[in-house]
Amino acid sequence: MNFNEINQFIGDKFNNKKFISLHEPVFIGNEKKYLNECIDSTYVSSVGPFVNKFENLLQDITGVKKAIPVVNGTSGIQVALNLVGVKKNDEVITQALTFVATVNAIAYNNAHPIFLDVDIDTMGLSSNSVSDFLDKYGELRDDGCYNKSTGRRISACLPMHTFGFPVHLDELIKVCKLWKIPIVEDAAESLGSLYKGKPTGTFGEVGVYSFNGNKIITTGGGGVIVTNNIKLGDRAKFLTTTAKEHHQYEFIHNELGYNFRMPNINAALGCAQLEQLPLFLEYKAKLANEYAVFFENRGIKFRKETENTKANYWLMCLELESKKDRDLFLEQTNNSGIMTRPIWQLMFRLPMYENCQKDSQKNAIFLEQRIVNIPSGFANK
Ligand SMILES: *Cc1c(COP(=O)(O)O)cnc(C)c1O
Repeated sequence: MNFNEINQFIGDKFNNKKFISLHEPVFIGNEKKYLNECIDSTYVSSVGPFVNKFENLLQDITGVKKAIPVVNGTSGIQVALNLVGVKKNDEVITQALTFVATVNAIAYNNAHPIFLDVDIDTMGLSSNSVSDFLDKYGELRDDGCYNKSTGRRISACLPMHTFGFPVHLDELIKVCKLWKIPIVEDAAESLGSLYKGKPTGTFGEVGVYSFNGNKIITTGGGGVIVTNNIKLGDRAKFLTTTAKEHHQYEFIHNELGYNFRMPNINAALGCAQLEQLPLFLEYKAKLANEYAVFFENRGIKFRKETENTKANYWLMCLELESKKDRDLFLEQTNNSGIMTRPIWQLMFRLPMYENCQKDSQKNAIFLEQRIVNIPSGFANK
């Protein structure tokens, strides 16, 4: 690998800034205008017109019937699992190759993750590993699927669309239907990604996007729960607004709710950001193309969207030949002020999750040793 050449190429894409980050927010639209309007109105907190506008914009963009903005993606996933019926001591199938929030959201429900392997091409949960696991351990009963080896109910499947690359959804949906396991999509990283022309996050019973500062659009901190099931959508709104019953003046709360509603001031920022999503997507697709040509000409594998999908290219990545190459790449780029990062440590390596049930993790371990993220933001050249 010729690092002079690599650092120069990346530097040039980002106006040769002294330090180039992986992904930073850009505010070149109506952000200040909407924030000023919001402040002038004094409605900066839990109610206000920007929250409703943001809901409508999200419904238009994703085509879902219900969008419920929340304080962050993690709390969105926490509630989404509750919505599909995850209870204390249940189990949830997910991937070990993910950001820790995916798995924390399971633990917040006092449920147990089962880590199954990812596909090499998408880096997301593999329908084959789910099918193999359930053939071996699954048992269908009247109230759902049980894990024969633990006796616990498996009440959800939580795939994650890694860096915006959609998982093989048709195949996964088929397996989960067969075993009567509802799907919650962790689409935190994949706003704008399409699977067979339809947005990721809209295939499962419930989906969740994140609008943290490093995501493709940001509300400062924030997330949204999306669903086509109106009942579940209404319940999501109820649970995230302290489970308060409608009454003209009394406070009536009959079950445990959460204060997870997105504040109006964050939604104001979100409205301005969503207006620019098409621009960001177009820019990223172009940058991904340029990276692909550059790296492929040098024998380095740049990760591209898979067949029948459109990736949002939130974080772009290279697959290097070995862990040794990966470490060299990380050192040489970071030392030159170009931020690059390895993919996450697999979740079963963390002390909280080291005793969870898992399969071979062959593909996850392969990717853990080889994938790096490279600067992927909007440089407005
Ligand atoms: C960012 C992210 C989340 C959590 O989102 P927050 O808004 O930061 O809470 C969850 N899952 C994945 C895969 C993420 O990348």
